[in-house]
Amino acid sequence: MDRIIKGMRAPVCEIFYSIQGEGIFAGSPCIFVRFSGCNLRCEWCDTKYAWDVRKAHLMSVDDVYKKVSNFNCRRLVFTGGEPALYDEFMFQFMKCYRFLYFLETNGTIFPEKSISLFHHVAISPKLEYIKEDVIKKIIGGNCNVEFKFVVRGEEEIDRFMEWVKDLSLTGFPLIFQPLFEDNVDYIERTKKIADHILRIGADFDVRVLMQQQKIIWGGRRGV
Ligand code: SF4
Repeated sequence: MDRIIKGMRAPVCEIFYSIQGEGIFAGSPCIFVRFSGCNLRCEWCDTKYAWDVRKAHLMSVDDVYKKVSNFNCRRLVFTGGEPALYDEFMFQFMKCYRFLYFLETNGTIFPEKSISLFHHVAISPKLEYIKEDVIKKIIGGNCNVEFKFVVRGEEEIDRFMEWVKDLSLTGFPLIFQPLFEDNVDYIERTKKIADHILRIGADFDVRVLMQQQKIIWGGRRGV
């Protein structure tokens, strides 16, 4: 039997209650627990503030619960940074407390202990860092999976689509999310991406979805 270690701690960047802005659950009120620390360094990362674990709050499972229990919501999203770095912590938390659990991961680390406790996993692969063995393990589990591809334009869409077909992932929801950047017209970028998706056609579940939180709140943190 697995031991429950409620005293274990993990670096937490922020905890907040907001509307899910991305993916197939966009629009749903959720509690977000954002861990600090990431194993990747994407140049366009919009949560660079979560990279440095030295700036994080070191929190126990109970500390996190005290915070999240203030919100009137049963959907809890572990995000980051890269939450799979804290597999044991997530497992301990999920064993202790009842929520509907969601994971947002870059798909390069397999969260072996906690994976079966998630209701839904959003995998956001990065073209330069794809780990197919990890992705195969995640989709081989019991949870529902969506793929979220952050893209700037046609070339990245084509590369992702090629990869999706190679790995036979066309049975999963495939979300193409235009990258939000301060100096780029977000609507224009989205239009071009939507046009390209329409051009290449889709006889499977492909969607173009903007980041709602960026449209509503711009680059603000904690939303
Ligand atoms: S994997 Fe996500 S959190 Fe990590 S650097 Fe890339 S975009 Fe940022």
